[in-house]
Amino acid sequence: MKQSKVFIPTLREVPAEAEALSHQLLLKAGLIKQNTAGVYSYLPLATRVIHKISDVIREEMESIDAVEVVMPVLQHAELWQESGRWEAYGSELMRLRDRNQREFALGPTHEEVVTSLVRDELRSYKQLPLTLFQIQTKFRDEKRPRFGLLRGREFIMKDAYSFHADEASLMKTYQDMYDAYNRIFKRVGLNVRPVVADSGAIGGSHTHEFHALSEIGEDTIVYSEQSDYAANIEKAEVVYIPAQGDKEDIQPLEKIETPNVKTAKALAEYLGRPLDQTTKSMVLKIAGQFVMILIRGHHEMNDVKLKDFFKTDDIVMATDDEIFNLLGAAPGSLGPITDKDIKIYADNGVQDLTNIPVGANEEGYHYINANIGRDFEVEGYGDFRFIIEGEPLADGSGPAKFAEGIEVGQVFVLGEKYSEAMKATILNNQGREQNLTMGCYGIGVSRTLSAIIEQHHDDRGIIWPKSVAPYDIHIITVNPKKEAQQQLSDSLYTSLKKQYDVLYDERNERAGVKFNDADLIGLPIRVVIGKRAEEGIVEVKRRDTGESEEVAVDVLASYIDTLYEQL
Ligand code: ATP
Ligand code: MG
Repeated sequence: MKQSKVFIPTLREVPAEAEALSHQLLLKAGLIKQNTAGVYSYLPLATRVIHKISDVIREEMESIDAVEVVMPVLQHAELWQESGRWEAYGSELMRLRDRNQREFALGPTHEEVVTSLVRDELRSYKQLPLTLFQIQTKFRDEKRPRFGLLRGREFIMKDAYSFHADEASLMKTYQDMYDAYNRIFKRVGLNVRPVVADSGAIGGSHTHEFHALSEIGEDTIVYSEQSDYAANIEKAEVVYIPAQGDKEDIQPLEKIETPNVKTAKALAEYLGRPLDQTTKSMVLKIAGQFVMILIRGHHEMNDVKLKDFFKTDDIVMATDDEIFNLLGAAPGSLGPITDKDIKIYADNGVQDLTNIPVGANEEGYHYINANIGRDFEVEGYGDFRFIIEGEPLADGSGPAKFAEGIEVGQVFVLGEKYSEAMKATILNNQGREQNLTMGCYGIGVSRTLSAIIEQHHDDRGIIWPKSVAPYDIHIITVNPKKEAQQQLSDSLYTSLKKQYDVLYDERNERAGVKFNDADLIGLPIRVVIGKRAEEGIVEVKRRDTGESEEVAVDVLASYIDTLYEQL
């Protein structure tokens, strides 16, 4: 394609609000343009990359017998009411009404639609397993759309759904997907790590996320250098090892004045006691019941673990009013010594403490020397906190290492959550009716594009892996006004485009501008036709290493074939 015909509005300056490097480069290299917060147009170069990523995904999906469909973006509210998610999905769901005031959603994901699609057609175990996938625009009204395509409100996703008669068949497809995802991300040039994850709002039990390692990543991954252990920090288990050594002698409980002491840190300082020998008391509402959670002063509470422990998603922090009505004090002065109707649970590590300072449920007062069993009871202990870097890992390896990751894909075992709610049944091999068993599998296609740039760039621009580069070769005519350069460029363009995707910069621009644009756009191979065109010599340069060589035109074709192979 001639560059003058392609719409590539490169920028010299990047808008200040673009924080993420990939966002800056996408704007600067003229790949995207923002329409409104979290909503972008994909310009020609980005469109080509999206197609190449999608082609890799299609090939790998078809290799594991997943078939492509296109399902509606516009989804009737009734479907979402059937699954119970019309309420549960909350304000991320984009809702709208038609002219008759009927309610709809713009699909953020397609479990409801796909379940309703197959439930009328799938009758028998003999039709299973079945895996459907699509590549389509999704809508989520994200609270904080940011980082360009990394977190949009309108974005492109590959979503797949599998249907099975039994768990064993589901686990086989899950494994096939897991393997296919590893191949996909490798082929598009992403360094990813599959990690054990939380199943969140989609529901289900067993799940892995695929994270592209990158500093801009919003998730923390906990991993081991000695084993292949890797988990999202939300899930990374803390191994509880009871403290060794002598405990302090038990002291009498005492109530003391603690003016303006509102945090564990302030309390530790006020008392001259190490922070890890204090606790924090938090009041939550778990499935409608008030519960106090105690964790040690230097730890952070992890609500995903609480959800697992209490086996409910319905966990919120109690409001200040609710807390005041119940305990007569505000957060900052709370503690477990109370005769009010509230159950107390504690993180495993709290068992190691003696003579604990705790809030007195009275503004400006704390108890010191509170002891479990003597001054208050703990209903149960569990793993309620985030792991800390350096702690031992659950698989026996360790110490825990941390890295930041961008979640580019996720595979889920859904089980019967949707088939049960939406009555999608089949006859099993004994002729009995049973619910379908399901899995679902997503890849953020537009997020993957950004993640690739996060991992492949230098300070001059993008360095596309050849598998997804918008074009393979960039032909640049240094001075199109010189006849020899112009003619040689034209003829090389004609011959090279037979075999490669070629972008031909024949614009009447200064050479410096063209080279800057070329670095920014980042195509793998550059062929520069300049002064030595008359002798039949051109320069060939690799974008990744920056190495260049002068090559005679008569051997150019084979030179490029070899170079392209090596990339
Ligand atoms: P996140 O935790 O980042 O919000 P999610 O877990 O809600 O994502 P899934 O429901 O698993 O996302 O969706 C499948 C894939 O779609 C994700 O792995 C991610 O790559 C992509 N994705 C999700 N939300 C967005 C978004 N707002 N913008 C771009 N891609 C997204
Ligand atoms: Mg996810």
